[in-house]
Amino acid sequence: MSAVAPPPLTIVEIQSRVATELTRIGSVIDELGARFAEAGEELALVGGPVRDAMIGRLQNDLDFTTSARPETTERLLSGWADAVWDMGRAFGTIGCRKGPWQVEITTYRSETYDPTSRKPDVDFGDSLAGDLGRRDFTVNAMAVRVPSREFVDHSGGIVDLAERVLRTPGTPEDSFSDDPLRMMRAARFAAQLGFSVAPEVVEAMTAMAGRIEIISAERVRDELVKLVCAPHPRLGLKLLVDTGLAAYVLPELPALALERDEHHRHKDVYEHTLTVLEQSIDLEHRLGGGPDFVARFAALMHDVGKPRTRRFESGGIVTFHHHDVVGAKLTRKRMKALRFANADIDAVSTLVELHLRFHGYGSGEWTDSAVRRYVRDAGDQLERLHILTRADCTTRNQRKADRLRRTYDSLEERIARLGEEEELASIRPDLDGNQIMGLLGIGPGREVGEAYAFLLELRMEEGPQSPEQAEAALRAWWAGRSG
Ligand code: ATP
Ligand code: MG
Repeated sequence: MSAVAPPPLTIVEIQSRVATELTRIGSVIDELGARFAEAGEELALVGGPVRDAMIGRLQNDLDFTTSARPETTERLLSGWADAVWDMGRAFGTIGCRKGPWQVEITTYRSETYDPTSRKPDVDFGDSLAGDLGRRDFTVNAMAVRVPSREFVDHSGGIVDLAERVLRTPGTPEDSFSDDPLRMMRAARFAAQLGFSVAPEVVEAMTAMAGRIEIISAERVRDELVKLVCAPHPRLGLKLLVDTGLAAYVLPELPALALERDEHHRHKDVYEHTLTVLEQSIDLEHRLGGGPDFVARFAALMHDVGKPRTRRFESGGIVTFHHHDVVGAKLTRKRMKALRFANADIDAVSTLVELHLRFHGYGSGEWTDSAVRRYVRDAGDQLERLHILTRADCTTRNQRKADRLRRTYDSLEERIARLGEEEELASIRPDLDGNQIMGLLGIGPGREVGEAYAFLLELRMEEGPQSPEQAEAALRAWWAGRSG
């Protein structure tokens, strides 16, 4: 996550990497290329895989472009691929799997975009050059024809790749008018590849930011997720904020750049947030998988309640009371607008709402009951809450940082200890619904639910009860209630 740009690649280095990668996938491109050539059709590896081969990160996804229409592609794939499927025939894309390779083959396009509509209007094209010319960035507009392995690059993509810069094949204004989503994609690729964005592209993004509003929330969301899950999200997020795009797609983020007030000495919440995000990424290994969107987005949103709750108190003190609760609400609203799945919305907003709870922990004075509530309220987000809370410490005061870390260590130890004793995550009352009905001599209904809630509360407050204790408490509660 270093901010220092790596040295430019040389063209010779790039060419030798491509040669190596093409050899690795040689059998696929040779066989497929031959099948299409025999049928009189053109086929070329294109876009992502060509770019990724050049930077030595080619994965198992192989995208091709072809002169063949989808029906022909389908016919040429059957009998060769292990499985063939329709990825979007209307857009010309047929998918297949061959061994470890996921292949997508799309008919040449010459796409025009109606700025008033939300859907690109697809026209199939008839040349590779035309297809490449309508792609988003020059580094994505290169192809390798197969089986000949002729390299095609009409817009200087290889030079831009060597310089690690994102540039559009035509003017950025025309490109972004055709499809404003490309502005989001510029930020996404900056974050994924660690590339810079050409000044004229940044200028066009700044001038045209508002056009993003014609793009569907789902498409914007998908790019945002890729950006956030990329290796350098700070680059992409800063670009969104600096160009004004964020004001449309994630307005809570630029709002964090509260003016710095030297007299009141509060931190710049926006900078703090980007640092918390990076610190959270550094702790992600605790979740045992790759990039974790929920953890990252929670880091990004954890303080979004601050601008609304900021108060200047007497004595030069700034407060943000309830910014956790307000932030959770704003997060929910934003994620809904971006059409996220309910499970993601619940997870991220739970984390935002709980991110401050630990700060009431002091130096270990929580009661067992407070620890139980922490675990119960976090539910299956507990591990991510550990990450967020630890990441949310950006003080330069090393002693303070160490103290917070040790305090959190001790909280995790207590959770582990109590957890072993009580299986905290699955806390239930000591009596179940049938036992409650049996003891009180009542049938199903509202009272059973109330008794259950009472026993759950008791369990949280005082820990596990023996059956006798639970029964006595239940009877006392019942007597007090009906009496
Ligand atoms: P990845 O699949 O790893 O996210 P990718 O480069 O393959 O990266 P995709 O979104 O899969 O990106 O798009 C595949 C290719 O299609 C791109 O490399 C680009 O050439 C082209 N492309 C995709 N979307 C657009 C768009 N909105 N405008 C222009 N070209 C696009
Ligand atoms: Mg792709």
